[in-house]
Amino acid sequence: MVRAGGIDLGGTKIEATAFDSDWAMVETKRIPTPQDSYENLVDALCEMVIWLEETAGSKGLPVGVGIPGFHSKRTGKFLTANLLASGRTVHQDLIDKLGRAVAFENDCNCFALSEAMLGAGRSYASVFGLIVGTGVGGGYCSNGTLISGLNGAAGEYGHLGIPYMTIKELGLDGIQCGCGRTGCFETYLAGPGMRRLAKHVIGKDVDAQTITTAAAAGDPQMQEVMRIWARIAAELVAALQCTVDPDCIVLGGGLSKIPNIDRIISEALSDHLLDQTEPPEIRVAEYGDSSGTRGAALAAVQNYEILEEAS
Ligand SMILES: [Zn+2]
Repeated sequence: MVRAGGIDLGGTKIEATAFDSDWAMVETKRIPTPQDSYENLVDALCEMVIWLEETAGSKGLPVGVGIPGFHSKRTGKFLTANLLASGRTVHQDLIDKLGRAVAFENDCNCFALSEAMLGAGRSYASVFGLIVGTGVGGGYCSNGTLISGLNGAAGEYGHLGIPYMTIKELGLDGIQCGCGRTGCFETYLAGPGMRRLAKHVIGKDVDAQTITTAAAAGDPQMQEVMRIWARIAAELVAALQCTVDPDCIVLGGGLSKIPNIDRIISEALSDHLLDQTEPPEIRVAEYGDSSGTRGAALAAVQNYEILEEAS
């Protein structure tokens, strides 16, 4: 029996998955993300909600949508890159068109909720889901509740600045980030950032895959790049400790697939956390690409009564 549906709105595809009461995937459907108009994008989301209802045989099925971007609680407008939905009230427009409630959540928050409730963080009360891929993002979940904030931007630690002392000691350049600011963690921690770091440390133009494979095989130069990358990652964990102090950090995204990444970051922590403090547990995500739909469906179930009242 289908318990909830989750929709993951991506730049190239929209994926919908129906989940059963054990949160196993029952059925999945993918369609290309419309690139021609906003109206077609909303229509495509409607099509997925209706498909989920039909798959479940229930019009009251809790359905959630995960979207890459922020959603202002005050204006209802979305701020999102690579999608036609930016500056639009996509959540309200979808509700108006469907005549029913749906949950909306930032995609990094969906990842965090999914891992905190059902995945690698399920034994911990407070879990930070940290995604390190082409960018760096995340979400924080405390006792099963997402802390998302006014804009849904809580957890965007990739856009905190690397500490001055680290920049100075490593002689790093201040790189302009995709967010418009300079010196964000993302500029050296994301996949393209690791490549930038290799150029800086050993003067070679090598991608993250080559660096991590060669480091694991014992290449001393690449191990040095990884050591410095882990040091910067440890500074990000220190920033997390000083703000939400999570019990556990669950790593997701492309770089979470680096062999032993949990151990590499854990070992780098001791010199960077506050003195005499317990380090958070570092774990690798249990769910891969399905975290987006699973987290969106979980958000829908968690908010089901609120959604019902609002519709
Ligand atoms: Zn930034």
